[in-house]
Amino acid sequence: MPRGVSQLSSKFKDPFGREITYLRLSVTEQCNLSCFYCRSHPGECSRERETGKDLLTIEDCLTIGQVAVELGITRIRLTGGEPLVRPDILEITGGLAALPGLKDLSLTTNGILLEKIAFKLAEAGLKRVNISLDSLDEANFRQITNGGKLHSTLKGIEKSLQAGLTPVKINVVLLKGINDHEIEKFVRMTIDQDLDVRFIEYMPTQGQKKWSNFFLPLEKVLEVAERIAPVVPVEGEHGGGPAQYVRMKGATGKIGLISPLSRHFCDRCNRLRVTSDGKIKPCLFSEAEIDLRPYFSDKEQLKAKFYEALQIKPDPQKVATNPVDRVMQFEGKRSMTQIGG
Ligand code: SAM
Repeated sequence: MPRGVSQLSSKFKDPFGREITYLRLSVTEQCNLSCFYCRSHPGECSRERETGKDLLTIEDCLTIGQVAVELGITRIRLTGGEPLVRPDILEITGGLAALPGLKDLSLTTNGILLEKIAFKLAEAGLKRVNISLDSLDEANFRQITNGGKLHSTLKGIEKSLQAGLTPVKINVVLLKGINDHEIEKFVRMTIDQDLDVRFIEYMPTQGQKKWSNFFLPLEKVLEVAERIAPVVPVEGEHGGGPAQYVRMKGATGKIGLISPLSRHFCDRCNRLRVTSDGKIKPCLFSEAEIDLRPYFSDKEQLKAKFYEALQIKPDPQKVATNPVDRVMQFEGKRSMTQIGG
């Protein structure tokens, strides 16, 4: 272990002065959908893949959460794979929610299982959900997700609003030729529902060669929204997150734009990730990972590993500002479902 970790500065800052306050904790690689752009091959999301051998236990998740909060993390997001396929997700949620010092506990889900569990998650202490929804057309949804049922996700959204898991944010990965003809339907969802609909640029996390077949910059969303109503920026809505928000005049909800390729936000990065097999990842696009598993019984050593991860967060000044060069910089070997998106 390096010098007394517990004596280090109270701010958890990386060498570029960014304060790290946000942890994305993946609790499984498994998913009950198999979105073609998220996994590297069709079998990747299936139940059989994960043997359980390396999967973080409830206790591991809580140890990671506790150490992270002691270091200065104030927000944790549970993700995967699909976090709701874990039978012990309520226990994980409840344990993390009880951590003193944790201000925000959220979860990213495809919403398929949410209808039954939304109220229980809220009771366990979950504050809010982000729900992925790439199509509002039943057949297109089925196609993108490899068999998913749109009405299940829509029910999940409804129940989350009723359970107060708000603000409910809808994440749409914009895919050229696949769902760009649905932009209008998506932005119209914000008119009279208290939903934030956020469009995300497609990222080839494994440097996929044909990425530009699907990639579409998000200006297209603004063009479509402007045709419906004047679009105004929503001030002060970064909240440390990557989305830039706008609102169509008179609309209840907001439209968010997340452009990791065409307008990266690495200078504002405030996060670390832990994969469901216990590796801490300093950056989504970097190959670097540090295995936490050998250190679960020693919290000081675990903290030292968190600090190590902080030291190897990439320099935001070196991040390319145009999509083509940016993709060339991607080093990752894992798909999004394996990392925890
Ligand atoms: N199963 C959950 C869900 O569907 O939200 C959590 C995991 S999923 C990997 C998290 C988010 O990553 C989803 O919104 C998904 O659309 C997004 N995602 C996956 N692959 C992506 C890619 N290549 N580019 C951009 N976003 C991606």
